[in-house]
Amino acid sequence: MSLPPPLPPSSAPEPDAAPKACVNCGSIRFSTQTKLPVCEPCRVAMIKHPFPFWVILASATVTLLLLSSMALSRERFHAALHLATTKKLAKQERWDEAYENYRGLMAVHSDTESLLDYAEAAFNSGHKREAAQALDTMAGRRVSKDEERRYNTLVYKFQLEQQQRQALVPVMPLAPVNVSPIRLNP
Ligand SMILES: [Zn+2]
Repeated sequence: MSLPPPLPPSSAPEPDAAPKACVNCGSIRFSTQTKLPVCEPCRVAMIKHPFPFWVILASATVTLLLLSSMALSRERFHAALHLATTKKLAKQERWDEAYENYRGLMAVHSDTESLLDYAEAAFNSGHKREAAQALDTMAGRRVSKDEERRYNTLVYKFQLEQQQRQALVPVMPLAPVNVSPIRLNP
């Protein structure tokens, strides 16, 4: 029985020797304050500015965006809350308060439903001109069947009132006005 042949010499490279110079600037004078392969000036610089400038700038930008989006959603949240409160006022037929609230909200909420809410509150609190203006802005909008009914009711109220004021003819029911809004679901 013979001995097995000797193993071939290992081809694995020798592990890298420790850096002979500062990994940052190449200086051969290592810092005595750390075991890391850096020179003293580089060590001090790294401690002072542990993050490159672009990292700082990017994180500052992200923070700013986050803060502004938080502020925006807070604003929207408050507007929504305000709208809910106002709807409640209208439900309780506190028309003067509802009208005042809606007036401030119209800049943010100009959807058809809010416009109708506003027009109703305006009409019922005696702000007829504002109600008429709100109805005017609805011309040509796509509305639901319920929104069309509310629109018609308001227009009808306007006509009734006009008749009463003029007292030319006795008040009698009118056929609902042929509204200008386009209904969504025929
Ligand atoms: Zn260095």
